[in-house]
Amino acid sequence: MIIDGHAHMITASIMKALSVDENTKKRLQHEWTDNSIDKHKETWIEAMDKWNIEKTVFMANSSLNKEFTDFINTSERFIGCAKVNPEESDAVLHLEKEYENGMRGVKIYATGDGCDVGAKECYPVYEFCARKKLPIIIHFGVTIGHKSNLFEGNPLRLSSPLKEFPDVNFIIAHFGAGFFRETLMLKYKQDNLYVDTSGTNNWTDYQDSFLTLKDVFKKSIEIFSSEGIIFGTDTRIFPHGYREHILKQQRGILDELKTEMNLSELDIENIMYNNAKRVFRL
Ligand SMILES: [Zn+2]
Repeated sequence: MIIDGHAHMITASIMKALSVDENTKKRLQHEWTDNSIDKHKETWIEAMDKWNIEKTVFMANSSLNKEFTDFINTSERFIGCAKVNPEESDAVLHLEKEYENGMRGVKIYATGDGCDVGAKECYPVYEFCARKKLPIIIHFGVTIGHKSNLFEGNPLRLSSPLKEFPDVNFIIAHFGAGFFRETLMLKYKQDNLYVDTSGTNNWTDYQDSFLTLKDVFKKSIEIFSSEGIIFGTDTRIFPHGYREHILKQQRGILDELKTEMNLSELDIENIMYNNAKRVFRL
């Protein structure tokens, strides 16, 4: 079985709240759907059954969105992560409500919201996560969004919080989305840091040296070990469909590395299932 550790569920109202420019909204428009929550649920469950996905972890794209909350609570196979900007003064208040609504993780869009995750203003959110044992997923690196700020998108911003909150598990999405070197460096003697594999990982095109996704997996396994990597597809919008091509591509890479790096079945299970189960306490 598989746990998809990073996906999105987007409805018309969530789309409206996205901090992307009008052109991007137009481009995405054809992909989003006015489907009912039940229809969303049905489509997801169908896809998850087809691809042996036991559970999917969904990253909210807007805060305290009723449709997102309703959707998450329709099935035990859906896990929700609340969108929080920890620099905002009412962040903990929002997070408390999200937790009551059933959210079991926190998603921070560091680049997208231009949020400095190392600022002391963010610490109350980390304290809350430590108390409630909530993992924090952070999108650093490249992203769409007209407010996005790559300076705040540097994972090194996380250096102090990682050490000051050893009981909080932090997950860097998409291998750092361009800040791969920084993401690897952060892992130095740091047990509470993970990466997720989700998305197309087209950030590799923007590196100054040629890097294939296989290279990225290989180096990540060397540094993070199979216990520090969480599989995800970043599937976002129906009716576009489940991103099975990402599942197949990444599973294929792991199969090749099985021989090349002498990975065990357990190593692969860790990445595809066990780590998400442990970190999200599923
Ligand atoms: Zn995502």
